Amino acid sequence: MSVKASAGASGLREQDFSACTNTRTQMSDPLIVLESLTKTFGKTVAVDKISMSMRKGEIFGFLGANGAGKTTTIRMMCGLARPTSGRGSIAGLDIWKERLRIRSKFGYVPQKFSLYTDLTVLENLRFFGGAYRLPADQLRRRVDRTLQEMDLGSRKDFRAGSLSGGYKQLLSIGCALIHEPDLLFLDEPTTGLDPVHRQQIWDMLYEFSQRGTTIFVTTHYMDEAERCSDVGFIHEGRLIAKGSPRMLKQSLREQLLEVHVEPAMPAMVELRKIPGVYGVDLRSGRLRLHARDPHALLKSWNDHWPFVGLQWHGYAWVEPDMEDVFKAYSQGYYLEDQAKRGVR
Ligand code: ATP
Repeated sequence: MSVKASAGASGLREQDFSACTNTRTQMSDPLIVLESLTKTFGKTVAVDKISMSMRKGEIFGFLGANGAGKTTTIRMMCGLARPTSGRGSIAGLDIWKERLRIRSKFGYVPQKFSLYTDLTVLENLRFFGGAYRLPADQLRRRVDRTLQEMDLGSRKDFRAGSLSGGYKQLLSIGCALIHEPDLLFLDEPTTGLDPVHRQQIWDMLYEFSQRGTTIFVTTHYMDEAERCSDVGFIHEGRLIAKGSPRMLKQSLREQLLEVHVEPAMPAMVELRKIPGVYGVDLRSGRLRLHARDPHALLKSWNDHWPFVGLQWHGYAWVEPDMEDVFKAYSQGYYLEDQAKRGVR
């Protein structure tokens, strides 16, 4: 099975996994360890007994739908929300009890980063550098470097409030990185951005990773998951799967059946009614099936096409992508098959 990242609908460029991991750091050392980490708000269990570890030098992608618990997890890891139960550590320090000691070691870009909109780009960078107490000469060097790396040089005198969404994000990341932390948390840094800005932010994350920065990034975008060294899926507060994109895809099944049937929308409705079909998705005009026995389905359709009014145009076998993996895990597809095969 190919492990190349798919270009996907976003137009993000393909990049080999090897290029996105930092080879200079020890990939085996756990930097972050979470043990049964839980957060409840009244009756809402936002984060439900999450246990996992993350190695140095990783780009860890934390994926989940709206309200899945991503922000709450990241806020606990950053010492901004107290765990209801369970615990976590970063470099051996407790994320809650020792949060003040940990704080200087990481950069955090929340979903809504509070840039000072009346200050210019340059003034924002100087402000955040000053807040981290960087000595003047170091601050000057880092501000210059950040302006260059974030493509903000020509906008340095613009007020932050007047920047486009993409440049605001780049400035937010620049401010979070001004003290050159070893660990960076980013909460949906690319939400709402166009493909060019998304690409720019990912190129930058790779660059930081190459330099040794460990990155924990949340996203809704499955094509971005392909670009991480490791991925965790969170669903209704629970961690439902974790592993490298290659491993997660292999855990699904070798190939999925994609059929070309027209008209596609009524066909999708009909195919979903078939016993043993777990799910049907429309992908570029074709219908991708998650089914218990796709070979048997194909054989039966070859013998007799039962859908009057739906035209059969052919089929293809396709490799699953991360969207398939997420759907399968979150909807519980294949659990029945796995149970039968004794897979746990
Ligand atoms: P999104 O992708 O929409 O940002 P998310 O995965 O980051 O979502 P969270 O913001 O962590 O999800 O929310 C998880 C659950 O916890 C949701 O049901 C949310 O309504 C709830 N929640 C989060 N913060 C609070 C709070 N301060 N008080 C009450 N409930 C909260």
